[in-house]
Amino acid sequence: MSIAQNVAHYLQEIGSGNPFGEKITLVAATKTRTADEINEAIAAGITDIGENKVQEFRDKYALVHGANRHFIGHLQTNKVKYLIGKTLLIQSLDRDELLNELDVRSQRAGVVTDVLIEVNIGSELSKSGYPLSEAYAAYERAHARQGVRVRGFMAMLPLSQDTVLLGALADQMRALYERARAQDDDICHLSMGMSGDWRLCVAHGANMIRIGTALFGARAYPAP
Ligand SMILES: *Cc1c(COP(=O)(O)O)cnc(C)c1O
Repeated sequence: MSIAQNVAHYLQEIGSGNPFGEKITLVAATKTRTADEINEAIAAGITDIGENKVQEFRDKYALVHGANRHFIGHLQTNKVKYLIGKTLLIQSLDRDELLNELDVRSQRAGVVTDVLIEVNIGSELSKSGYPLSEAYAAYERAHARQGVRVRGFMAMLPLSQDTVLLGALADQMRALYERARAQDDDICHLSMGMSGDWRLCVAHGANMIRIGTALFGARAYPAP
């Protein structure tokens, strides 16, 4: 199947929304993809794209047209300056040091940067994000800053076949999202779900999914 066919298929499949009656935003995860491939996906209806690496974000910035830009990967503080004013959403606010840098740089530039609080929902050493137990307090600290605006939460579920466990973790994310949304109208995104687990995530309340492989095919990483 071509990229365009995959995009059409996905847009149709998510068109009915999630069980909470919310529209689902499909973010194409574009790491390792060429600008041509990304533009093909946009021409087929993709409205939002997410990069993982600042270098790739910058390299493709002027070559890709007509989509909202997300940053979805681990973000080093010394690279924040390259993203300020260029993103719809930075989905990977995973530590206070990064919050501080985003806040200071955004205020200096006279912009407000929209962010999601990243949660390490599976408590995995290999993943970044606030522990679930600290995530609400992290949200409150970010909410108090003038330079950022929290729009919700992001998580990556662990790699597991245990759908009961995964469903329970996704439910915990949805509960966190609901708790913040109950008193903050800016909260509107629960970003959770990749090629392998997005159906489960949507069934448990995700309203934003980040899909790479299923749209573009398997990634071929250059040798390290
Ligand atoms: C690569 C990536 C995705 C998409 O993963 P696929 O399995 O290729 O769909 C989603 N979120 C993040 C943060 C990613 O880095």
